[in-house]
Amino acid sequence: MAVSWDAVLRDEEALREAAVVAVDAALLEGVLMRTEGCPNASDVVNYAPFTLLPSVVPSALFEQAYAVQQDFNLLVDAISQSKEFLEQTLASTIKVDDFTAQLFRIHMQVLEEGLAQSVFLGINRSDYMFDCGVDSTPALKQIEINTIAASFGGLTSRTVAVHGRVLKVLGKFQEASRLLPNNPSKGLALGIAKAWELYGSPSAVVMFLVEEIQRNIFDQRCVENELWNRNIRVIRKRFRDVFEKGSLDDAKRLYIDGQEVAVVYYREGYMPTNYDQQNWEARLLLERSRAVKCPDIATQLAGTKKVQQELSQPGTLERLLPGRAEAIARIRATFAGLYSLDVGEEGDRMVAAAIADPDRFVLKPQREGGGNNLYGEELRQVLEKIRDSPERTAYILMDKIKPRPAINYLLRAHSPLQASECISELGIFGVYVRQGKEMVMNKAAGHLLRTKAIEHTDGGVAAGVAVLDTPYLV
Ligand code: ADP
Ligand code: MG
Repeated sequence: MAVSWDAVLRDEEALREAAVVAVDAALLEGVLMRTEGCPNASDVVNYAPFTLLPSVVPSALFEQAYAVQQDFNLLVDAISQSKEFLEQTLASTIKVDDFTAQLFRIHMQVLEEGLAQSVFLGINRSDYMFDCGVDSTPALKQIEINTIAASFGGLTSRTVAVHGRVLKVLGKFQEASRLLPNNPSKGLALGIAKAWELYGSPSAVVMFLVEEIQRNIFDQRCVENELWNRNIRVIRKRFRDVFEKGSLDDAKRLYIDGQEVAVVYYREGYMPTNYDQQNWEARLLLERSRAVKCPDIATQLAGTKKVQQELSQPGTLERLLPGRAEAIARIRATFAGLYSLDVGEEGDRMVAAAIADPDRFVLKPQREGGGNNLYGEELRQVLEKIRDSPERTAYILMDKIKPRPAINYLLRAHSPLQASECISELGIFGVYVRQGKEMVMNKAAGHLLRTKAIEHTDGGVAAGVAVLDTPYLV
């Protein structure tokens, strides 16, 4: 698929020169990250890793991914509103997975108390790879949908200019002019702004809930800036701040330091290590409040791997999206094979199949953030160990997607420049706002292309494996 860059890739000298320009362009455009050594201050920053060349993406699959995003928004929203569906689907998982169980407990507690929140804001990112496994025609297959803290919508809007510059330096002016503009952070901010407006208290703020370690702050600042430009005040707080200074009034309005919070935008809270006892208490306080949570805890649960697997079962989409046959067809076309490892005959059969042919599958626990999945020999060993234990229900099994590799150069600070065989993952950002029962916004907000060397089976940009990229449509 790298056909169009073949000539460029033969001139290593020119590529080396272009790489120098590329890095400076990235710094100028703001494709930035704080450094590992200095993760909580901006005195020292570096460029976020990115590809030297934009990667070739089939335009039909790119369009397909955009066309299905509003359907996925509706689906995630429907799941979040179905207590029964979440209860049934996660029943076996929460017996063995403590983290999911704790989220689920909060979900139930908030429902029992009665929801104080009436405006709902979803920001998600549906990720895909281009599968060439079945025949040689690539097909769009969903990897997962991220319903909490989906990142890089800010930095990715700035890679277009960088890749445009690189192509021009390499003499590809025509190609440079074909790169699509892309600004997910603007779309995300429009969703946050709408939710803030519907909350209806002009003096209330938007609170970004952020991590203790904030290397990726510039990505978040892009969204923040869009909000400030709309005259909306943004504050950044950690769970710890919420625990120490957060409170609810009689109407369950949320206050931090005396400021009313209209919207809580989570860029934290998706991993077990994000929580200690106090942080869980802070999470509960936020969930009980009237503030618009992005996402609320039900929507976070809608993004679990177990829910993804259940969606692939016959009849499930029909149950969640009644009367929407076309949306269902578009969604289903993106599904790879997904299998439950619940105790029973079907689970036994899949465990045996995966042990016999581990390279056909990926074994996934209920975790987010990259680096948790198991492949190949490791997958086989783990499954052999837990095959007769209920522990296996903490995982799902998925068909391994096999994209066709292409040559590119991955630019990373302090790393030598060398060609790698790479594969890419395309993400589409979705944004929606619901007030009571009425959808008032439902949009695709832009895209993210991430690329990694094929020797890495897993991991995103934050995990130091994938790098930012720009699609070049053919
Ligand atoms: P996480 O929530 O940790 O991001 P993902 O499901 O996105 O979990 O998996 C992490 C990475 O593992 C993906 O970015 C992709 O590179 C790889 N991966 C996940 N599922 C598959 C699959 N079915 N086939 C091939 N690679 C996969
Ligand atoms: Mg992922």
